[in-house]
Amino acid sequence: MKYALVTGGSRGIGRAICISLAEMGYHILINYKSKNKEAHNTLELIKENNGSGELLKFDVADQVDIEKTLGSWINNNKDGYIEVLINNAGIRKDNLMIWMEKTEWNEVLNTNLNSFFYVTRLVLKDMLVNKYGRIVNIVSLSGITGLPGQTNYSAAKAGIIGATKALAREIGKKKVTVNAVAPGFIKTDMTKELNENEHKSQIPLARFGEPEEVAHIVAFLASEKASYITGQVISINGGLST
Ligand code: NDP
Repeated sequence: MKYALVTGGSRGIGRAICISLAEMGYHILINYKSKNKEAHNTLELIKENNGSGELLKFDVADQVDIEKTLGSWINNNKDGYIEVLINNAGIRKDNLMIWMEKTEWNEVLNTNLNSFFYVTRLVLKDMLVNKYGRIVNIVSLSGITGLPGQTNYSAAKAGIIGATKALAREIGKKKVTVNAVAPGFIKTDMTKELNENEHKSQIPLARFGEPEEVAHIVAFLASEKASYITGQVISINGGLST
């Protein structure tokens, strides 16, 4: 059994990634925080495609929960190891810096950045021992250019970009690759309050992207074919920024 863990797999970009990786033959561990029905929907979609998976509910911002739930899963499944990790779960809590509450800062940093540390270090050891692994971190255009109203989110995503590059150099010799994918505007719950018509004039391809379009590049980076790509940040934003 080949295992892939997708954090935030219940909806949006994470769901599309789960489906793509299942098509590649991975048994998918669908992580999510609260939306049980949506997570079951992802699993059903995988099964309809003749794939396999299971739900693994934990809060990526909670180190204790991760060590308990993901740690137990790893201990109980010695038949294989998680060879693909997609750090995708994320939240936004936008506010101008001058009004930003400490909780808005901390929740976004914990969920988007600290989660990378908590989750990745648990699955890394088996990748290194087996001398094969793929880690893909979903970041954002906001972490590259910075966006007003998103100092917390931009800081978290920029932090992951730095960690991606550092870890890639640290473990390249073990044939484990680490890359980041930076989407622009993608049609999910996270962007549902944005008016596509208002924004599309800034986007050369004149539309928001689909989650499946992000999933295609993630699936490639997670495949054996991407064996000579590491430490990179791949943008997928319709040309919004080059
Ligand atoms: P959605 O809001 O549609 O989905 C978020 C997913 O993350 C859900 O599965 C949710 O689980 C999960 N999640 C949130 N918090 C936690 C947590 N603490 N623990 C575990 N799971 C959690 O987001 P998108 O699909 O749009 O975003 C996916 C990633 O892409 C994020 O990292 C986001 O920052 C990034 N991104 C998105 C862009 C966009 O335009 N949509 C643009 C650039 C980057 P549950 O369903 O249980 O709540």
